[in-house]
Amino acid sequence: MKCDKCGSENIRVWVKVCMYIDSRDYGRLTKKVIAKSTTELWAVDDDKTKFVCGGCNFTWGGDDVRTLYDIISEAKGGKMPTREECYYGMLAYESMFNFDHSNLSKVLTENKERSEFIKDLMLKNSFDMYKGALNKSPKEWLGKNWDPMESACQERRRIANKLFDKVIKKVGENE
Ligand SMILES: [Zn+2]
Repeated sequence: MKCDKCGSENIRVWVKVCMYIDSRDYGRLTKKVIAKSTTELWAVDDDKTKFVCGGCNFTWGGDDVRTLYDIISEAKGGKMPTREECYYGMLAYESMFNFDHSNLSKVLTENKERSEFIKDLMLKNSFDMYKGALNKSPKEWLGKNWDPMESACQERRRIANKLFDKVIKKVGENE
């Protein structure tokens, strides 16, 4: 395991451990108690595992999943996000950009008068989309169907590419 930020291999792992102890030891957890034979079972809570780099003190992992807002504001403050945060953050912004860009193109190129109501609705949709995305982790916001690491997403992509190839072939034939 290596640090994403400085490349150091001096990584300390912070784990949350559950264990069963004698009820009489409850409330006074000492090294002696931990070493006792009454300690029956240890379980590591994987979701809460945190990694701390001994080289640069960069911390990642843990159960405190960061929202897109946290990631962006810390990035602007000079703190490097994790690779995963960058990956999903990029995909989230690409998705939002496509949505807005496609709407903007429609409004600017279609020779169509839109009512105030429709314009307000489009503006509200865009605002709600950004607001919703900023308040969630980008991975959660994308969901399984749009997460390239999920098979459902790759299957959908495969079908879409096939359709695209067919269309391109048709266009080529007609030229
Ligand atoms: Zn480091």
